[in-house]
Amino acid sequence: MTFLNARFKALVPYTPGEQPQISGLIKLNTNESPFPPAPGVEKAVAAASARLNLYPDPTEGKLKAKLAEELDVQENELFLGNGSDEILAFLFQGFTPQGILFPDLTYGFYPVFSGLYHVPRRIIPLRWDFSIALEDYDAGRETVLIANPNAPTGLVVKLPEIRRFLTAHPDRLLIIDEAYIDFGGQSAVPLIKEFSNLLVVGTFSKSRQLAGARLGYAAGSSSLIADLNRLKFSFNPYNINGMTQAAALAALADRRYFENCRNTVIETRATFTKALKRLGFEVLPSAANFVFAVYPGHSGKLLAEALRTKKIIVRRFDLPRIENYLRITIGTPEQMQLVINALTDILMRKEPA
Ligand SMILES: *Cc1c(COP(=O)(O)O)cnc(C)c1O
Repeated sequence: MTFLNARFKALVPYTPGEQPQISGLIKLNTNESPFPPAPGVEKAVAAASARLNLYPDPTEGKLKAKLAEELDVQENELFLGNGSDEILAFLFQGFTPQGILFPDLTYGFYPVFSGLYHVPRRIIPLRWDFSIALEDYDAGRETVLIANPNAPTGLVVKLPEIRRFLTAHPDRLLIIDEAYIDFGGQSAVPLIKEFSNLLVVGTFSKSRQLAGARLGYAAGSSSLIADLNRLKFSFNPYNINGMTQAAALAALADRRYFENCRNTVIETRATFTKALKRLGFEVLPSAANFVFAVYPGHSGKLLAEALRTKKIIVRRFDLPRIENYLRITIGTPEQMQLVINALTDILMRKEPA
């Protein structure tokens, strides 16, 4: 006996990266920031917690005003979600009248949402060099969804290519998931003023030290945003809790801290990439807070397991073309040095791999 509606019986849920609840591990598997939230966040959250008896502001007025200023958009061009995952869910549910197109190797939640909402999907393979060529999406009438920079590759699509697509297809929605944009590439947010068929999604999880607070945003024309609000207010008007609103407001107030963390990650990425290459890895040029690397002739599975015995967790995908790649989040400079030391040991076969 089962009580689940028949249409969900074949649903394959998303498998999140491991979130070990013990310390002492070097956690480089889900692209969080290795740095704590901005110094002002803790106090702001404590103050907000004193108001937990009340519902939060369902319009997120203060936070939206501040974020609108930060992104240089109007407040009515901005929507907030409980993580960008929630926004992506709304988009699959409500903004895919002709189905959806996305790459074969990209964020693993896209196929899951397409299954949850029964949205027909066509999968467009990445090019041989793992790049996304938007011209591959020209044919068809579907909504197009890309992550830029893409995950797990870290590669970017350039703004002129995005502009060309938007101009050529005014009747198709292009969704750009910019979870990693603060680490490289050019944001498409300014283009929302020009193109009403563009929606840009971002998150506080990767570059703003707030993965645990669950906050994502979408920028688009006021009409797209009004339609997103139609879905939100039909589902959960209080999707952003008060402590998260306060935390994000405090994080946004400390621009210097954000920039320092971001710049450290970018510098560490360069140093780490060089060291990996010196060891013999091939590393894709990353514009994100992770690198995607392969050691030719070696099993990625065995490498990940060997790192794991040294208390280092990285991400690996059992998918064709990339089964031997490791996706390694950029942690602190000290953590990345430990990764290089561990890989050196493993590859020198001082220890079994
Ligand atoms: C991490 C990630 C997300 C989800 O971010 P949340 O805001 O934490 O839900 C969305 N898209 C991509 C490409 C990501 O890597």
